[in-house]
Amino acid sequence: MKEETLSYEDFKSDLSSKYIGRNVYYFDSIDSTNTKAKKLASKGVSEGTVVISEEQTAGRGRLGRSWISPKHKGLWMSIILRPNIDPINAVKITQIVAAAIHRSINKLGIKSLIKWPNDIVLNNKKVCGILTEMSAELNRISYLVIGIGINVNLDEDEIPNDIRSIATSLKIESKNAIDRKGLLCSILDNFEILYDEFLEDCNMDTTLNICRENSAILGKEIQVIKKDSCLCAKAIDITNDGRLLVEYKDGSKEYLISEEVSVRGLMGYI
Ligand code: ADP
Repeated sequence: MKEETLSYEDFKSDLSSKYIGRNVYYFDSIDSTNTKAKKLASKGVSEGTVVISEEQTAGRGRLGRSWISPKHKGLWMSIILRPNIDPINAVKITQIVAAAIHRSINKLGIKSLIKWPNDIVLNNKKVCGILTEMSAELNRISYLVIGIGINVNLDEDEIPNDIRSIATSLKIESKNAIDRKGLLCSILDNFEILYDEFLEDCNMDTTLNICRENSAILGKEIQVIKKDSCLCAKAIDITNDGRLLVEYKDGSKEYLISEEVSVRGLMGYI
């Protein structure tokens, strides 16, 4: 059977968005869609340009970690944005993307949760990661590249042993093969709606509601992992500007910024 592919020709008739995903660079194989997207962005490609590849040979996570991306099994893509906002607000865009992906996965009847700041989880395992990278001057964003890796149709044996306890796919959890094209279009459409809402008047209400109501960590005890420390805390709230408010055992509170921490459950990944 011929594999379903995700070139622009393959999905354009199913897409409703105006500019997100209307300029597409499609690859059969690439090192990293984020790396390619950053090169294209610095050459000036338009807002909403999407880089998509059937596989990544050197997919990246945060803090130099790697992201496995087998051929035809997932959505491995990056969206280039040029929002006219202060660089400190870039983290909000990650939340908007997470909310859009959550909506699209839920539409499939699959009940995922959002693990602040950048993962979507299913049954306590990671099904999607978001990697936001930025080029900015002091108070102006030159571009943002939002990398999205979704494990769609990976089977159990396609997930390496060492991450099998923390990673899963939509297919493994729902026991059904998923239409990647439909999911791709739904995510691009949902993202444009929430992103436009934000650009219009910095309104994040819909996004924040989705992130709070479907959080994998709010109200729970978590581990807050920084460069040199690991502390237990309770996740209290996601603030209007996208930070995570936690309360430590001694009663002190802290607003966490996503770039500086990893969050884990007490027993495992979540
Ligand atoms: P976190 O923010 O959870 O610390 P990252 O977002 O940096 O992690 O993602 C990288 C990590 O995700 C890797 O170290 C690995 O454990 C895990 N990982 C790598 N590839 C996948 C994948 N396809 N699906 C789920 N998890 C993965």
